[in-house]
Amino acid sequence: MTILESAPPSHGQADGTYVVTHYINGTRIRSRSGRTAEVFNPALGAPAGIVHLADTEEINAAVAAAKAAFPAWSQEPPLTRARVLFRFLALLQSHRTEIAKHIVREHGKVLSDALGEVARAIDVVEFATGIPELLKGEYTEQISRGMDAWSIRQPLGVCVGITPFNFPAMVPMWMIPIAIATGNTFVLKPSERDPSPSLVIADLLKEAGLPDGVFNVVQGDKVAVDALLRHPDVEAISFVGSTPIAEYIYATGTAHGKRVQALGGAKNHMVIMPDADLDQCCDALIGAAYGSAGERCMAISVAVAVGNVGDALVEKLAPRVRAIRVTEGNAADAEMGPVVTAAAQQRIERLIAKGVEENAALLVDGRGFTVERFETGFFCGGTLFDHVTPDMIIYKEEIFGPVLCVVRAPDLKAAIEIIDGNEYGNGVAIYTRDGGVAREFARTINVGMVGINVPLPVPMAFNSFGGWKRSLFGDQHIYGPEGVRFYTRHKAVMQRWPNAIGKGPEFAFPTVK
Ligand code: NAD
Repeated sequence: MTILESAPPSHGQADGTYVVTHYINGTRIRSRSGRTAEVFNPALGAPAGIVHLADTEEINAAVAAAKAAFPAWSQEPPLTRARVLFRFLALLQSHRTEIAKHIVREHGKVLSDALGEVARAIDVVEFATGIPELLKGEYTEQISRGMDAWSIRQPLGVCVGITPFNFPAMVPMWMIPIAIATGNTFVLKPSERDPSPSLVIADLLKEAGLPDGVFNVVQGDKVAVDALLRHPDVEAISFVGSTPIAEYIYATGTAHGKRVQALGGAKNHMVIMPDADLDQCCDALIGAAYGSAGERCMAISVAVAVGNVGDALVEKLAPRVRAIRVTEGNAADAEMGPVVTAAAQQRIERLIAKGVEENAALLVDGRGFTVERFETGFFCGGTLFDHVTPDMIIYKEEIFGPVLCVVRAPDLKAAIEIIDGNEYGNGVAIYTRDGGVAREFARTINVGMVGINVPLPVPMAFNSFGGWKRSLFGDQHIYGPEGVRFYTRHKAVMQRWPNAIGKGPEFAFPTVK
């Protein structure tokens, strides 16, 4: 057994030969308790390795290492921290395929999509290399006679990231580069389903010259998360995952005095107006609903067909859904891979059955899908429902699989009411040729990220990402300028020098004279 094997197992064989450990203070460490979980290759439906699960002992060690590293790291000039990130950036670029292969092996998404994920992770590092500019404060001269004031942003201390399975490289990198660029130290608790990219990130940061202790990884489950949420030396928590856990993280973390941003689940709608180009809409829906097997927090899971556009839309869509090439993610022609676990596959199939029971029209049924040479893999075929209504379970629940629901709405007002009535508010898109309609939609819809003829409006690294309603708990969106604000606190300084100090005490509240 190697600690972490970088080469993926050969196709068609279950090769359970690697162990994924913690990474604390620059060293790979196994759990003292010996608690582990299997890491599956979802295309094979078989274990590929094991991951160690942290207990309180490893959590305490990781937080202690991060706390010890904070005083020196936070005192480094921003440019010194940026230079580490520049070296990290170059290393990431040369290791992008290696990271993508880990993602394909443990998550199941297709290689081109995994490479896209790594590219979006790299974007955030590029943004964070600009930290000397981003940390510039504000200065006001002469706020009173002989007195000046300025503001600065200072790091918080030990920050924690708890991340989901669906972007094992990109979502941790929404947090890490900005947290450490601003002078914090960091403990990452990645998803136990696909933990390997976290250790590649750790290795590359070390090679880039990051001092030991600044970045640490604890693998684990609820035991690890609960210990982090309550640890007195943790200052801030960034979470990305499902809504029930996001709500729990926010409530528990804030109750323990921590700054928390907790991004949750989603049900993203795409509105198709009668004037939209239906071929463009179909292309957009096929990619946005079925890409990564629908396991994206920005996946479109509901198409809202406005006016009389519904029949023509589903007529074009159904054959395209049936034609999606579903197979193991490394295959050259793969468009969609397996879902992440057997439990996910079963949940998706159960929800499809529920939709049939609720009398939605099942136009394409992805249940019982098998792939030649990968018969034991966790595959689901693309699934399409028509005539779904907002009271149905398949509309309300986040299915997080390759299932698209078509809802009919008589007009835009009705479409907006449906979307605003949904508990989630992550992303939304509208397809139309009418600029006035698009503008009004973007202005009024209660959703955090809006695409106008753009199906997945995922903001770039220099903007910020986040949903509304039950898709985000906390005040700040993630990465970009909001990320810099989240990982720093504001300090106001006022100065006056002896030759400008007045005579005697002042008892009235200071005002400009
Ligand atoms: P999840 O909520 O099951 O897990 C996320 C993290 O929380 C993991 O690290 C996991 O180990 C931990 N966790 C799980 N159960 C826990 C518990 N009971 N107590 C404490 N910690 C727990 O999410 P997932 O299945 O890994 O990821 C998919 C979900 O994430 C979807 O709902 C998706 O929409 C959401 N997501 C949201 C965004 C966003 O930006 N809003 C981005 C990606 C994924």
